[in-house]
Amino acid sequence: MNINEVIENQRLFFNTNQTKEISFRTEQLKKLNQLLVQYEAEMINAIHQDFGKSEFDVYTTEFGILYSDISVALKNIKKWSKWKRVRTNMTNFPAKSYIVPEPFGVSLVIGAWNYPYQLSLAPVIAALAAGNTAILKPSELPENTSKVMAKMINDNFDPRILKVVEGGVDITTELLNNKFDKIFFTGSVPVGKIVYQAAAKHMTPVTLELGGKSPAIVAADCDLDVTVKRLVWAKFLNAGQTCIAPDYIYVDAKIENIFLAKLEAEIERSAFSLENGNYVRIINDRNVQRLAKLIDPSKIYFGGKINEKERIIEPTILTSCNFECPCMQEEIFGPILPVLRYTTLDEAIGMIKSKPKPLALYLFTNDRSIKTKVTDELSFGGGAINDAIMHITNHHLPFGGVGESGIGSYHGEAGFQTFSHYKSILEKPLRFEPNLKYSPHSESKLKWIKRLLKF
Ligand code: NAD
Repeated sequence: MNINEVIENQRLFFNTNQTKEISFRTEQLKKLNQLLVQYEAEMINAIHQDFGKSEFDVYTTEFGILYSDISVALKNIKKWSKWKRVRTNMTNFPAKSYIVPEPFGVSLVIGAWNYPYQLSLAPVIAALAAGNTAILKPSELPENTSKVMAKMINDNFDPRILKVVEGGVDITTELLNNKFDKIFFTGSVPVGKIVYQAAAKHMTPVTLELGGKSPAIVAADCDLDVTVKRLVWAKFLNAGQTCIAPDYIYVDAKIENIFLAKLEAEIERSAFSLENGNYVRIINDRNVQRLAKLIDPSKIYFGGKINEKERIIEPTILTSCNFECPCMQEEIFGPILPVLRYTTLDEAIGMIKSKPKPLALYLFTNDRSIKTKVTDELSFGGGAINDAIMHITNHHLPFGGVGESGIGSYHGEAGFQTFSHYKSILEKPLRFEPNLKYSPHSESKLKWIKRLLKF
């Protein structure tokens, strides 16, 4: 496949203006929806082969979000695409002012492997809804999911509108050497920096959905049973291979012991296993080895067993951890849960503030002043109070990071906005042209200008 040709053909097609028609965009989204239904069984099978994910998990964490994003876009696309009238300031009176959303053009979407369908196709849905063409480069690590997406899209879509280009670093590098009108990347911080630099060469706007260490703060007054239930689900979903999984827990020292005991009981009750369909394999050997190095045997409170051949790591709790531990030096992205203790909330806030801004932050408390303090004082992409992960399922909440955890956001209207440029237009009638700005200049004209600029 000639990548330059694919891009060039998409650009030529975009320039015909067909993608700007609402009916055209609606048609593409409906087609994608219908293909997802048609390929559902094949896609579930592919992801099961890649890392043992069950149908239940695939539906709740991948298809559910995709169907919801398509349905929300179809319902709102007309409203989102409307020209928006805004007020005109005094200086320009009389005139009309409006904002016109327009698609960027040819977009590139680079996906990550951990939720391979959702993370590849949700940005594509947003790109098409906003009237862009798209090239999708899914992650090469889950090779069966990458193949089935390529088949589903390349056998059914006009490549001038949507095309999947499969491949690893070499292909992504080749893609990035080209000029796109928008790049949407999901993945790690180091690769995010590579993408950002490549985009800068062409002044291409980017959305970077990255990762990092997302803390869960557990205050002494929390409802322990609900807290533990929600945290255990959120951490071990997809065996911890979730960008917004609680990376570590920061618990008030006063309740640490009881919290740990309840954590252990909830993990046992959940009986995580491939057979139960509530657990998955680690994606590859390299990641199994990386994760193994993060487990300090002297800190294991629960779990710690690794089956290298099957690529399964038991849900593992590490206790008495601090920010110097190996598990606190990088994003864990696996089923290892370090528990750190704090004595004052200010100490916890201070530590989190000293680290890169997290993609997500979770707080478990019923105390209004703690909720306000943490929300006001800490910067993070998004998060939840008394829950974890679930904020991503509310399409009214833009999803994305801040600082090192990312740039920009998507899902729902935020996705449409991410793939749109908002063109500002001032329209003047031809009659009435005050002489104020034209020469000859004068003291009194300047006085009027100064007065008018205040409005
Ligand atoms: P990754 O950065 O290794 O890979 C992401 C994509 O970049 C893949 O398509 C890959 O082929 C490509 N790539 C890898 N190396 C490259 C290079 N040198 N040059 C150009 N392209 C390259 O990330 P990953 O392992 O797929 O995903 C894990 C990371 O992604 C974690 O940090 C996680 O937190 C983050 N993540 C973030 C979100 C989010 O929505 N913010 C979602 C999922 C994962």
